Amino acid sequence: YIFGRRKATDVAHSVWKHVVREGDTVVDATCGNGHDTLALVKLVAGESARGRVYGIDIQEDALRSTSCFLGQSLGTQEMEHVKLFPKCHTKLAEIVPEDASVRLVAFNLGYLPGGDKAITTRSETTLLALEAAGSIIKPGGLISTVVYVGHPNGREEFETVQAFASGLSTENWVCCKLQMLNRPLAPVLIFMFKR
Ligand code: SAM
Repeated sequence: YIFGRRKATDVAHSVWKHVVREGDTVVDATCGNGHDTLALVKLVAGESARGRVYGIDIQEDALRSTSCFLGQSLGTQEMEHVKLFPKCHTKLAEIVPEDASVRLVAFNLGYLPGGDKAITTRSETTLLALEAAGSIIKPGGLISTVVYVGHPNGREEFETVQAFASGLSTENWVCCKLQMLNRPLAPVLIFMFKR
């Protein structure tokens, strides 16, 4: 029962469970402290050696934090399913192998919790990264975004993500938004399902 959950990221994880299968290739475009990356490894790993999580963050510090968190939570075999890249997510199509068919690209926008709040995702680069994600997602896949609307940059970024999703063709995409009506500053989820 996903809507009873309070945290937006928990809701996103519940949706991913309906989309991602063991053996899939997925991308975490904003690794941060690694909570989303861990949830993704749990979905793609298992018996299959094929599952891959390509994790990206622009900050080395964030990837160190992700790596440490994953190291505490996963066994050596599960760790082999993750590859981390200290890069801007606008480069995501270059990071993922050309022949990989990608089931999910996840964005959890904003700044690194516990880190430098000045280093945050930005509308212009987020838009380029969404376009790149759209080009590598296979039919049946999902672009998942969590957008923080409680601060001015976040509000602008939300408008950008919403406009991007609204402009995708209805022939190829089903796009929806989940917003807490009685918590107007709570993060908003925007999902773009590729048909
Ligand atoms: N998913 C994370 C977790 O589970 O802990 C939280 C992500 S945090 C809200 C947003 C992250 O986006 C920060 O770690 C930040 O460094 C990263 N970021 C900001 N701009 C970026 C960019 N252009 N490319 C990739 N990552 C970026």
